[in-house]
Amino acid sequence: MGIIPGNNVDRRVFLKLAAASASLAACSRQANSQKKHVAVIGGGIIGTSIGYHLAIGGADVTLLERGKLAERASRGTFAWINATWAKQPKHYHSLNQSGLAGWKRLQSDLGIPVRWGGSLEWFGSAERQARLEEQIAEQIEWGEPAEMIGPDALTELEPNVHFGGAESAAYSPNDGAIDPVLAARMLADGAKQTGAIIREDCQVEAVQALNDGMVELATSCGPVTVTDFVLATGADPDATEKLAGMNIPQRSTPGVIVVTRPLPPIINRIIVAPGVHIHQRDDGRIVLGEQDGAPDTDAHAERLRHRPNRFPEPILAEQHAFRILGVAEQFVPGILSAEIEDVFIGWRPLPVDGHPVLGRSSAEPSAYLAIMHSGVSLAPIVGELVAMEILSGQQATGIEEYRPDRDFQSIRRY
Ligand SMILES: Cc1cc2nc3c(=O)[nH]c(=O)nc-3n(C[C@H](O)[C@H](O)[C@H](O)COP(=O)(O)OP(=O)(O)OC[C@H]3O[C@@H](n4cnc5c(N)ncnc54)[C@H](O)[C@@H]3O)c2cc1C
Repeated sequence: MGIIPGNNVDRRVFLKLAAASASLAACSRQANSQKKHVAVIGGGIIGTSIGYHLAIGGADVTLLERGKLAERASRGTFAWINATWAKQPKHYHSLNQSGLAGWKRLQSDLGIPVRWGGSLEWFGSAERQARLEEQIAEQIEWGEPAEMIGPDALTELEPNVHFGGAESAAYSPNDGAIDPVLAARMLADGAKQTGAIIREDCQVEAVQALNDGMVELATSCGPVTVTDFVLATGADPDATEKLAGMNIPQRSTPGVIVVTRPLPPIINRIIVAPGVHIHQRDDGRIVLGEQDGAPDTDAHAERLRHRPNRFPEPILAEQHAFRILGVAEQFVPGILSAEIEDVFIGWRPLPVDGHPVLGRSSAEPSAYLAIMHSGVSLAPIVGELVAMEILSGQQATGIEEYRPDRDFQSIRRY
């Protein structure tokens, strides 16, 4: 039980891993004499976090990723860590707040860089802005240190941003942002240092139950025999049906993410302006996400049918980047001339009711499902909860609403 360090363990990280593993390992020891061997399918931010938390809890972990780590939704994400107004109702807001606290823990335990500093958000329409004020009042009631602030305070916080005449904006000082690809790699490294096996270019194709209560996963890199497996397969609509016998209705939507080459410091916080989201990483790169999606044309619909992560031609990628930079130019003058480093189409893993799917499959008891939007905000708490449930065999409280066999018909705002 516990940590099996690899050869190149950084001692400081190792000591922190040892401390972090103590509570999860204790829960595993208490409830389970049988050692768990768990396969985590999917190497995005959710799969790597679950793999890390299972490994520090004492499970034998094999993480199987069909491509490279974090090259799907966890690359094409805006990566804003938040528990703001859109996180409804209160239980979902609280889960996201725990996600934020979890990033502080992972920042300390694994040294994952998080750019804290908060977010500033406002809308163009007076009606929507009035609703934002109501939603921020509700956030305050729920204990979030959010507030509406006026033009002078906004300019003081972000002297290089034009707020377009906005009379106020919501300031959520607890929010942050990460580099999601770096974070997923660091989580996978943390898991590896604790004995986990990480296999990239390894697709899981089928699952077969064996007589002794184990299951065998047929994969493109050979069979893997485990006690349990976790599906952290993101927006893939068929994976849960094929591998865990459960159809999870998703309404995955695409979003274009643009990353610029490094620029001198311009923005301190996450700027959620009408039509565009903008933040700057510590390395100077500015990340932009569109708010409303690409124009709704037949040509787009045809292009998006096969869920590409890239535009078919560089010229199209460039056009879309300029479209998004053009919107951002109103708020961050000069950004239109930034050099573009990357344009990526991300697909949101979005269960139709907007909430995470977390729990055992009712059709395949060895399978645990972890599919969700806002996975960047949620990854630390989800990793912890899934590891606790699998290692202890107990159900965690507070996530009853997210079980895979729920009624997905009541559509809520995520
Ligand atoms: C445009 C956009 C903006 C977003 N903005 C935010 C934001 O600001 N804040 C926030 O919190 N969230 C945001 N999200 C959501 C967040 O990015 C996702 O919830 C999160 O990345 C999901 O992570 P994941 O690991 O579940 O999925 P993924 O990163 O997609 O990982 C799933 C992995 O499973 C692998 N896989 C699938 N099937 C198999 C198989 N059979 N065998 C092996 N491997 C398999 C895939 O290759 C993939 O790498 C955004 C998403 C998008 C698209």
